[in-house]
Amino acid sequence: MRIYSHYIDGHETDGSRAQASLPIFNPANGKEQARVALASQADTERAIDSAKQAFDAWSKVSPLNRARVLFRFKALVEAHMDELAELICLQHGKVLEDARGELVRGLEVVEFACGIPHLLKGEHTEQVGTGVDAWSINQPLGVVAGISPFNFPVMVPMWMFPIAIACGNTFVMKPSEKNPAPVLRIAELLTQAGLPDGVFNVINGDKLAVDTLLCHQDVQAISFVGSTPVAEYIYSKASAHGKRVQALGGAKNHMLLMPDADLELASNALMGAAYGSAGERCMAISVVLAVADVADALIEKLQPKIAALKVGNGLEPGMEMGPLISRAHLDKVCSYIDSGIQQGAVCLVDGRNTLADSEGFFLGATLFDGVTPEMQIYREEIFGPVLCIVRVADYDSALALINQHEFGNGTAIFTQSGELARDFCHSVQVGMVGVNVPIPVPMAFHSFGGWKRSLFGPLHMHGPDGVRFYTRRKAVTARWPKQLSADFIMPTMK
Ligand code: NAD
Repeated sequence: MRIYSHYIDGHETDGSRAQASLPIFNPANGKEQARVALASQADTERAIDSAKQAFDAWSKVSPLNRARVLFRFKALVEAHMDELAELICLQHGKVLEDARGELVRGLEVVEFACGIPHLLKGEHTEQVGTGVDAWSINQPLGVVAGISPFNFPVMVPMWMFPIAIACGNTFVMKPSEKNPAPVLRIAELLTQAGLPDGVFNVINGDKLAVDTLLCHQDVQAISFVGSTPVAEYIYSKASAHGKRVQALGGAKNHMLLMPDADLELASNALMGAAYGSAGERCMAISVVLAVADVADALIEKLQPKIAALKVGNGLEPGMEMGPLISRAHLDKVCSYIDSGIQQGAVCLVDGRNTLADSEGFFLGATLFDGVTPEMQIYREEIFGPVLCIVRVADYDSALALINQHEFGNGTAIFTQSGELARDFCHSVQVGMVGVNVPIPVPMAFHSFGGWKRSLFGPLHMHGPDGVRFYTRRKAVTARWPKQLSADFIMPTMK
């Protein structure tokens, strides 16, 4: 059986943690398909050291030539699109077209990072004082690390490393232990594109590898994406060790549905946003706030669409929704369905009846009506194909619910009223907002990040914030005087 290990110094390498490995399942049939090695502290330190050794030379490569490596990498990913999409499908379970979409969204960050010669330009002021000029320089930090979740095995790492290495840093990636194969293939393609050995390393593992990254004195910054409890832990531990941190956490994204919305459009948008990728997206819509009397008409639209949803192996043509990532996660999502029913919500569609005989980790689309804010299925992130309808009296009470929720990743309003939509964009306490757009993931040249307990740290990912996160600024003030006299008072510009 294939054991996925680590990628250090330009090649795949075995670890030293004796026989420590975890199974990787094929979610579509429930069978173990491979194993992943778990790095020891020494393995992780070896990856950090490789990145450290590579830093000096890489940081001196001109931004233009760093960008040229990324241009070649982009072409290679495009040439291997089918292979990569299939790998994602096999280890994650999402449908093939969705995996391609993930790759395209990741490549957009590579495209943004190809503009690094322009993005790194500092500011310059001639004559900040008489005969004095000043400018700023954006320099790389050194070794930086990324820790990513299972749900986007390529896109989330691509939110991080293209910009980090374009800025002149070297990188250690710790992907999810559930599906490490796509990132290992990405590492090979980076080497093939001409990236020097040690600039991008992959370490597979669990908490031991992560903790080594968080505490190591040679790691300057940590980018994390995953669940909120782990994000909070990463943020506090890495900060305590003096590192720059951006830690993106979980979500509970609400769609505010006004009675004036086009319901055909809104219900189609909801199908993709709630059930696409089996609801395992941090920007998935999991709650609809149905204002006034719109809920019944919405349910009438949704039910036939749910009945027609094609659930199955993501590699089979025509499938719209694949399995969940693991048996444990399937059980957890099912326990939320139990909880919803026990706490009095109305289960209009119970996905547990879909492909119930399969060995794969399948769960059909599930729809709850009559959900209230006290219920567990409203408060907590389910991360599965479970959509909750909360009936609310008016716009103000819907807005208040969103603003009171502990998470603030994404949200959307569906309405025909520009005035209301404008108020929503202004007033809502959420980091990413859609107007008639259900999953408002910012494009690569903007930045991605939530508010409240969906993000720990001041800077969002990719876009301008990505460049800020992976660089530090140096301010230079220069003059060339013919003579200088000693001056003991606070210097001011003349
Ligand atoms: P997770 O938090 O379990 O794991 C994320 C990473 O952290 C993995 O690499 C894992 O190995 C590591 N990890 C897990 N437990 C750890 C611990 N105790 N100590 C140190 N490291 C640990 O998340 P997941 O289940 O892989 O992904 C799903 C979660 O990610 C959801 O909550 C989802 O909302 C979130 N997510 C958020 C965003 C966002 O942009 N905000 C994007 C994608 C996913």
